[in-house]
Amino acid sequence: MFAASVAAESGVNCVLIERKARLGSKVLMTANGRCNFTKDISADQFLADLGERRIADWVSEAIRECPPRSIVKGFKSLNVPLRRMADGRMFPADGKAATIVHAFGDLLRDEEVPIVTNCPVKAIHPGFVVETKNFSLAAKNVLVATGGVSYPKTGSVGDGQKFARDLGHRIVPFRPGLIGMETNDPKVVRLAGRRFEDGRAKVLSPDGRTLFEHRGEVDCESFGLSGAAVYNCQRFIEHAKLHDFVLEVWFDRSRLQLRNLRPRPVKEAIVTIGGVSLDDVDPHTMESRLVPGLYFAGEVLDVDGPTGGYNLTLAFATARKAVTSMMKR
Ligand SMILES: Cc1cc2nc3c(=O)[nH]c(=O)nc-3n(C[C@H](O)[C@H](O)[C@H](O)COP(=O)(O)OP(=O)(O)OC[C@H]3O[C@@H](n4cnc5c(N)ncnc54)[C@H](O)[C@@H]3O)c2cc1C
Repeated sequence: MFAASVAAESGVNCVLIERKARLGSKVLMTANGRCNFTKDISADQFLADLGERRIADWVSEAIRECPPRSIVKGFKSLNVPLRRMADGRMFPADGKAATIVHAFGDLLRDEEVPIVTNCPVKAIHPGFVVETKNFSLAAKNVLVATGGVSYPKTGSVGDGQKFARDLGHRIVPFRPGLIGMETNDPKVVRLAGRRFEDGRAKVLSPDGRTLFEHRGEVDCESFGLSGAAVYNCQRFIEHAKLHDFVLEVWFDRSRLQLRNLRPRPVKEAIVTIGGVSLDDVDPHTMESRLVPGLYFAGEVLDVDGPTGGYNLTLAFATARKAVTSMMKR
């Protein structure tokens, strides 16, 4: 949606093809339906917060060209009333993710961008021919922005990674990012359903060294622990490929130390770690290094960020980069 909006505003003809019957199914779910669409911080801070140097270096140019503050400005220019939290997280003022989806919908309608919904792309043939069940479309350039593999009911089922693989790209295996961790610790089980906003979670090595720490919400669930503090620790554990670790959590005036918790499955994750290999995509253009004219943006790439508006910002910035590169091409 963001890419099609940038294309329309830049005078690039495009067709937006969407698998589901409506646009933005995943966006509607974000931040419990409130959509934390970015964080009002500098590009430098954003890149530092990503934690993963490899990802930060790769997206650096895209983020500098489309920093969080320009995203805030963009929504303001679309007359979307916004709310800024003390830590910089940005939401639509009415607390409704639908407001963000409608803003895109209105822009695309006004710019007369053709949108084909309920239309899964089946294949992308070199050249390009974009194949669907009912028609095929010839295109000079194609942007694959089909998302990760979590919450497949929203339409992100891994099709883009499959198209990329079919065209010779390497796919980094999918893993869950920003997800709850399982435990049957009696205290957690007893408090299942309770949320603790001023919690804290730490990842420790088995010999007690602090490897990562995050202050934020800790929630007790029937399966174990969730909430922003736990999610960010889980993302750290996944990226660091830790097998032996201790998760220390503070909530409800208790401190628990839990060893080697397992994450919930990727289909429940906020973000997919893995996807189209960054080695096969040019970070200066988002264009495939193997297939000229084929571009990637968003979660389909092996790019992910922490909680707090980082993942939508990454999707927006990489989408803008792809479209502006297409224009130059
Ligand atoms: C519960 C939850 C809460 C989240 N909260 C936040 C938050 O508050 N802030 C934040 O920054 N991030 C949040 N995220 C992460 C964020 O939503 C994603 O990272 C982001 O939506 C990725 O954008 P995308 O455009 O790459 O993919 P998506 O938003 O997944 O969009 C991909 C689109 O492509 C379509 N598609 C897929 N395959 C095909 C095909 N073959 N043909 C046609 N169309 C296809 C899909 O139907 C989908 O509409 C959350 C995620 C979840 C699951």
